[in-house]
Amino acid sequence: MKRVFLVLLALIGVLAVIILFNTLTFESKQINVEPVAPIEVSEEAYQRLSDAIQFKTINVFSGRVSDSTAFLGLHEYIEQSYPLIDSLLDKQLHGLSLLYTWEGSNPDLKPVILMSHQDVVPVDEPTADQWEHDPFSGDITDIEIWGRGTMDDKGTMMAILEAVEVLLNEGYRPERTIYLAFGHDEETGGVFGARLIAHELKTRGVQALFTIDEGGLMVSGLIPGLEGRMAMVNVAEKGYASFKLTVNTSGGHSSSPPERTTIEILSRAIIALDDNQRPLLNQPPIPDQIAYLGPELGFIGKLAFANSWLIENQILESLNARTSTAPTIINGGIKDNVIPTQATATINFRIMPGETVEDVYNHIVETVNDTAVQVSPFKQQNEPSTVSSTESEGFYVLSKTIRQLFPDAVVAPGLLPGGTDSKHYVELSDDQYRFYPVDYTPETAGMVHGINERINKQNYKDCIQFVYQLIKNVDDSSSSD
Ligand SMILES: [Zn+2]
Repeated sequence: MKRVFLVLLALIGVLAVIILFNTLTFESKQINVEPVAPIEVSEEAYQRLSDAIQFKTINVFSGRVSDSTAFLGLHEYIEQSYPLIDSLLDKQLHGLSLLYTWEGSNPDLKPVILMSHQDVVPVDEPTADQWEHDPFSGDITDIEIWGRGTMDDKGTMMAILEAVEVLLNEGYRPERTIYLAFGHDEETGGVFGARLIAHELKTRGVQALFTIDEGGLMVSGLIPGLEGRMAMVNVAEKGYASFKLTVNTSGGHSSSPPERTTIEILSRAIIALDDNQRPLLNQPPIPDQIAYLGPELGFIGKLAFANSWLIENQILESLNARTSTAPTIINGGIKDNVIPTQATATINFRIMPGETVEDVYNHIVETVNDTAVQVSPFKQQNEPSTVSSTESEGFYVLSKTIRQLFPDAVVAPGLLPGGTDSKHYVELSDDQYRFYPVDYTPETAGMVHGINERINKQNYKDCIQFVYQLIKNVDDSSSSD
């Protein structure tokens, strides 16, 4: 007995040594660069963002914006406000989406595509009176600029325009060609905007060094164990698919219900899907995320991430590393004493890289396992994106820019559960990154698509300074193409 105890104790000792060793040798992957002084940004930039917010570029239905004059007004405003961009860059309109081409001096170098979108989501009517400033007022206070689109995504678009205008004003000419691509229907899938721009660029034979888009943010106060800020550079986005479950029966009178009622059959199907979630997957980009984020956490977090093999599921769970299942619409029944002949439910899935839309379909059929339930896919669906590299020149340039301007911030690759216009650009570059340094904190997290959306003035400056420095750094890396 004593011997068994001693062997056990020795094993625990060995395990403790391994765990400690892994933790202490878990090295930071952050690059060290000299900080640079950010450029001066004039106060007038705030007014221009405010003006842009006041164009109600609302997009609700795919293929049909509610007010095209708002978009055309915004275009005219951009023309007038950024005269150098207007006169020196080539501009094309695709639908209501804008594509600017800033010709580089060296056509041998791969171009870079900077993206964002002009459209915004509507204000949810029941919450309209909770806005402290009118959502389309563009009100400027001592510290903030208010309105729908300040965070998602007009703020980013205007920051790009500000930075490029400053560079043009300085007489700067990039070596690499820079494209500015501003979709007009991102919020409904980008099918009539970003997709057309991507098609145009493909026709021109463009192969970009990288693309950069919304979808990654400067996160603080939201990651357990991380003290400072994290620049979350999303290197992939999940796929998207919705399926309609339909149950048809002969219905009947509620006083003598049949053995299986329509709603009962449908309910069991929904519960079965909820009870049988898709598995957690340690697929790219998750290993990279663990490798970048782990070493920056406090001791306990670092220990956990350094030994992720021990508690893999908990870590994958915390990183949302699975295809998610969400029932979103349910319909059935017309009267309290009638068993309906039809009931339907919609289930939305965000698909983890490593799985496909077909995998999800098969999963539904197998899990529901009931021929009384028909499963049909919605038309709009996207496979998960490709996973962009963290070893690429593009990722390096991004990391360098972030660390130069925000030396306290930790760079970490991530997986975006939502979708962006980037999905249409997959063939234009091996590397799609999603990041602008918009602050994402417990306070601002609910503002995107929510109530009281606004951006801090300093944070808006950060975005302008980031784009400026990024364009400069992209050229600095030119020699290594
Ligand atoms: Zn957006």
